[in-house]
Amino acid sequence: MNALEYVPAPAFEDNYIWLVSDGHHAVVVDPGEAAPVRAYLAKRGWRLSAILLTHHHQDHVGGVADLLNGQGVPVYGPAGESIAHLTHRLRSGDRVSIAEPALEFTVLDVPGHTSGHIAYFQAADPAGTPHVFCGDTLFACGCGRLFEGTPAQMLDSLDSLAALPGATQVHCAHEYTLSNIRFALACEPDNAQLLAWRDKATALRERGVPTLPTTIEHERAVNPFLRADNPAVQSTLAEQLHETVPDRLAAFTLMREWKNRFR
Ligand code: ZN
Ligand code: FE
Repeated sequence: MNALEYVPAPAFEDNYIWLVSDGHHAVVVDPGEAAPVRAYLAKRGWRLSAILLTHHHQDHVGGVADLLNGQGVPVYGPAGESIAHLTHRLRSGDRVSIAEPALEFTVLDVPGHTSGHIAYFQAADPAGTPHVFCGDTLFACGCGRLFEGTPAQMLDSLDSLAALPGATQVHCAHEYTLSNIRFALACEPDNAQLLAWRDKATALRERGVPTLPTTIEHERAVNPFLRADNPAVQSTLAEQLHETVPDRLAAFTLMREWKNRFR
């Protein structure tokens, strides 16, 4: 089987629209705008075969109508959200099978950022590597804002992503890494892996290179939102916010609120 290529097309200020291609056909994930996708397809000579959507926000779905433009391309998305042009409405556990490129995904429900948010998990690419497309749920060193969900829902969603194989390549929809790392260091100043990642990510961004994909294993080690049970994280929260932190849900809730106002 042909190798697959996973590429982020930058869009807007800081979005990534991911494309997966076998060299001939491509699927696109969360095309918030059509122009960068069209340009990439044209440059590489790829033909669009499917559109996958994680949630209803405009910066993820805004380019769908323009990309379709009368073509019969299937559009996959969450059953629980109102999105135009969907041909396949997905729920947790559903399978997505695409012929070209050859792709099999399992759907995960990951509510919190929006109430119907889903993620697409590919258990193995032709080289055996797992991948997940998680929209605005999990970011490198961070997580999405809670627009439509509760902290408990988001923590459950992040738990289900953190339970994926450590080698899973995580394709997030925004380049928020450097600002997320600043917050992560406020939560956990002595995390050596996090300090090393700050230096590496800073160097990447200075060269204009995406910091993504990340991996589940790496996120477990450096992402404070996956480390709400960590004693160092909890004691920072208690000291900085003058709060008691009885459990990991309380820690997660305080951390998410702190991040909302963190500059
Ligand atoms: Zn969003
Ligand atoms: Fe977004």
